[in-house]
Amino acid sequence: MRKYRVKINGMTCTGCEQHIDAVLTSIGGKNIETSFRRGESVFELPNGINAEKVRQAIKQANYQTVEVDEISSQKPKNIELDNKNDYDLLIIGSGGAAFSAAIKSIEYGAKVGMIEREIVGGTCVNIGCVPSKTLLRAGEINHFARENPFTGLQTSAGEVDLASLVNQKDELVSELRNQKYIDLIDEYGIDLIEGEAKFVDENTVKVNGEKFSAKRFLIATGASPSIPTITGLEEVDYLTSTTLLELKKVPKRLTIIGSGYIALELGQLLHHLGSEVTLIQRSDRLLKEYDPEISETVEKVLTEQGIDFVKGATYERIEQVGEVKMIHVTVDGKKKVLESEQLLVATGRNPNTDSLTLSAAGVKVGKRNEILINDYARTSNEKIYAAGDVTLGPQFVYVAAYEGGVVADNAIGGLNKKLDLSVVPAVTFINPSIATVGLTEDQANEQGYEVKTSVLSLDAISRALVNRETTGVFKIVADAKTLKVLGVHIVSENAGDVIYAATLTVKFGLTVNDLIDSLAPYLTMAEGLRLTALTFDKDVSKLSCCAG
Ligand SMILES: Cc1cc2nc3c(=O)[nH]c(=O)nc-3n(C[C@H](O)[C@H](O)[C@H](O)COP(=O)(O)OP(=O)(O)OC[C@H]3O[C@@H](n4cnc5c(N)ncnc54)[C@H](O)[C@@H]3O)c2cc1C
Repeated sequence: MRKYRVKINGMTCTGCEQHIDAVLTSIGGKNIETSFRRGESVFELPNGINAEKVRQAIKQANYQTVEVDEISSQKPKNIELDNKNDYDLLIIGSGGAAFSAAIKSIEYGAKVGMIEREIVGGTCVNIGCVPSKTLLRAGEINHFARENPFTGLQTSAGEVDLASLVNQKDELVSELRNQKYIDLIDEYGIDLIEGEAKFVDENTVKVNGEKFSAKRFLIATGASPSIPTITGLEEVDYLTSTTLLELKKVPKRLTIIGSGYIALELGQLLHHLGSEVTLIQRSDRLLKEYDPEISETVEKVLTEQGIDFVKGATYERIEQVGEVKMIHVTVDGKKKVLESEQLLVATGRNPNTDSLTLSAAGVKVGKRNEILINDYARTSNEKIYAAGDVTLGPQFVYVAAYEGGVVADNAIGGLNKKLDLSVVPAVTFINPSIATVGLTEDQANEQGYEVKTSVLSLDAISRALVNRETTGVFKIVADAKTLKVLGVHIVSENAGDVIYAATLTVKFGLTVNDLIDSLAPYLTMAEGLRLTALTFDKDVSKLSCCAG
């Protein structure tokens, strides 16, 4: 027997599920699990019945097969662990993707080596998620101490001792690095090899002159700040996200080149700690890949907080005079000079592939030097896999860890698992935070859906009213025919926590009515999901408490 997953368009109810089950049973299908909500069926077929037969049977029943995947043969074929090589899996990198792959591979019985040229733990714990989020929280507390929305509360903030905050942040980073990474090296029996890895051939890498061979490799080398080509920038003492998190003094003025999620988070952090902050971007619209309601709300709220934006800018040159950085731009045909004590470059991240001599191993890269992988996380060399930021997929640690796990299942477990990044939540941890999952309205239209949307301003949500922070928005994008929720987009306090419920909604094909019919605790921000669902047909401002 072989196991298949088939994606099917056109199922709208449990009757359709039964119909598909009957069709698959008629061609010999067993252990069939069909879900109209997920638009898929998983089942086993005797050897010899091929995917084409499945397609034909489903078509005859008037449904459309989107894709048929064999997800595993009857027994997973583990690679033969025969000690002929130094390692069964040799991983380059030691971040989220690397550790997830290492732990799962060891659970399969593999001997695993891990190579790291800098600090064990990679970006997230050392210079990314953890240090930025703990400092952002400190900034938020300072902001509320300076300006709180309640009458009768006398709060104030003194001068920020950034050196002390950074020391405290470093202690937390070191604690979490030990707990979540370094301690696991011995606990699982991973061989740590310190140094920079280069491929010698498809079976061998060299580290500090020593050669190591392996049956399979995982490249999980992450990404580093990308520095744009702007005249004069190379001669200027600029910051990246890494060095900004090490500043010991709050700069009076900070200018940021870029306005993506790292630029927004670090910009608001420094603004909350007392800097005057300006973000410069080439595009005319902030966060242009988001729904317009989201970008407009974010721009409004950050502008109200006192952060400046220079949009539609063309960079002329940058120079440093003494300590002052001068950024010469043209906006709407007019020349402008922005002067600041510190300059942050936050214009995305480039994959770390330069030092790997990938050509020696026959691993192909794309236009931005990212490693090209197929649906099984395999590179152009079938013994070599890649995962995480180095592939330039969604750059989040949970994506890197998920991909690392799939690599272990495929490279060591022999499972032939496909990566599924169809539903990836994304959060920007500013205040109010931005959280999104699924399709934007434009994407849904492009994919041919008849789209229905509901947009609810935060001032209709009780949690926001009692918090006295009402600038924000919830938006649901749904399929007009089935009312299936295709995307959820939020700007609110705690949006990052609310988005998990929305992720389940989108992933498991729940509908607007499912959200309406599920109780939402009053006074939570998550209630905004239910209220926005109700807003498809009702004016929620005319309803009583809890929209009852
Ligand atoms: C400021 C900032 C904030 C972020 N905040 C969040 C957040 O809140 N939530 C979230 O999910 N994500 C966040 N991210 C993104 C997240 O950190 C990354 O997506 C994730 O860490 C990528 O993991 P990875 O395993 O692919 O690579 P990494 O963690 O980058 O690990 C790669 C490792 O490979 C090593 N390496 C590279 N080349 C070689 C070589 N040739 N030989 C040996 N070793 C090598 C590197 O030194 C590095 O340690 C943030 C990133 C930044 C920069």
